[in-house]
Amino acid sequence: MTDTLEKPVEKAGGAPLADAPKRLFIKTYGCQMNVYDSERMADVLRPLGYAPTDAPEGADFVILNTCHIRERAAEKVYSELGKLKQMRERKLARGDGGMTIAVAGCVAQAEGEEIMKRQPAVDLVVGPQAYHQLPELLTRTARARGERIGADFAPHEKFDALTPEMIATRGGEGPTAFLTVQEGCDKFCTFCVVPYTRGAEWSRPASAVLAEARALADRGVREVTLLGQNVNAYDGEGPDGKPWTLAKLAYALAEIPGLDRIRYTTSHANDMSDDLIAAHADLEALMPYLHLPVQAGSDRVLRLMNRKHGRQKYIDLIARIREARPDMAIAGDFIVGFPGETDRDFEDTLDLVRQVTYAGAFSFVYSPRPGTPAATMPGQIEEKVGLERLQRLQALLFEQQTSFNAAQAGKTLNVLFEKKGRYDRQAIGRTPYLQAVHVEAADHLLGQIVPVEIISGAQNSLNGRLASANPI
Ligand code: SAM
Ligand code: SF4
Repeated sequence: MTDTLEKPVEKAGGAPLADAPKRLFIKTYGCQMNVYDSERMADVLRPLGYAPTDAPEGADFVILNTCHIRERAAEKVYSELGKLKQMRERKLARGDGGMTIAVAGCVAQAEGEEIMKRQPAVDLVVGPQAYHQLPELLTRTARARGERIGADFAPHEKFDALTPEMIATRGGEGPTAFLTVQEGCDKFCTFCVVPYTRGAEWSRPASAVLAEARALADRGVREVTLLGQNVNAYDGEGPDGKPWTLAKLAYALAEIPGLDRIRYTTSHANDMSDDLIAAHADLEALMPYLHLPVQAGSDRVLRLMNRKHGRQKYIDLIARIREARPDMAIAGDFIVGFPGETDRDFEDTLDLVRQVTYAGAFSFVYSPRPGTPAATMPGQIEEKVGLERLQRLQALLFEQQTSFNAAQAGKTLNVLFEKKGRYDRQAIGRTPYLQAVHVEAADHLLGQIVPVEIISGAQNSLNGRLASANPI
């Protein structure tokens, strides 16, 4: 039995997904159920810019939604696939791009591998349980061919236009700066619009990132935060022509004189590679604060969200990270009231929070985003229930955040002073764990990293006094 099958890279040859508008043709065989499924497939593909067309000729994406009941059903499908293959060749020959060909429905479910073998023109095979994964499968097929989804989305052009002079004067004068290294997302969590609005994952070449970081350091920046929708999926081209991981990039950034602190956000648990964990043990510049969203603590909800990992994998991952860097502060994102979330599922989220213990978190009540698979899932939760769950979750998260901050009292932490405070001569800076610290008589230390003795910690910030007037 087959749920989904994708063509290996070297055999792929379909539509130029970056071209818009995109035409979708679905041929439906069999019963009313298949008609309904075809409509659902059109719905999940609409956010990617696919509009239905009534003939296969000229279509960018053709789906044969098959039925196994009738005799010789498979033979009919193979004959149709032969015709589609020729249509694709004609389309390519007239310079109108290719055509992605998928087989869905019961024949796909029963004979997936056989179909791919017998008709190499087929790019995707999708069983009836996997239609919600179509956008994801299509994006991956496009990526395998070096294409991107979303015609008006061209991040490399945007960054190419950024000159070193513009970089040097960008974003004000402060000692901290954001540096975008990655954009887009291929994960397709069922609640999220990012894969549709930001397109496929794309990483800037390492040399461009390093050049920008050097320019920032030259103008006095001491801390950079590397940004990306899935920043730890970074795989930008290195100077050697091979892809670099985020860890490799961090080691190179740590060599830049003056750049003392490196942060990155936001990460996905599945991209938290061993070399990145090891970098946290090795690199003093890599700050011990990690924003690693989990969204939910119940395996069932994580599956419905298409997060691609379970609860225990996340908990074990946190344990491995803390083994490498025992003082690592963990921050998270949570969604409560996801469609189908039961009281029991929600208790699992609270339980996960108790096991992990967070230094900070963002938490939200699920809100349907039109066009995403979760928006039409059964079991949408009443707003009142969602809000009650949010209150309970936030009470626990705030309690953990407050204890984490209070536990710093009595310690001496290095603080990078970023700006003046509200009171005369007061300055505000950040600890390695990203906590804001208010310090009196410190406004002459802006832009410097200085040891600060922490006096007290509350929910949102710490108070401290200079342990030594000598910057590091
Ligand atoms: N890439 C990150 C990840 O994998 O967790 C998160 C990026 S997302 C743009 C930022 C946060 O917004 C998510 O972590 C999630 O908690 C929240 N969010 C996204 N879509 C949401 C929705 N439909 N309803 C409620 N919260 C949502
Ligand atoms: Fe991608 Fe994060 Fe959105 Fe999931 S939540 S689809 S990983 S951006």
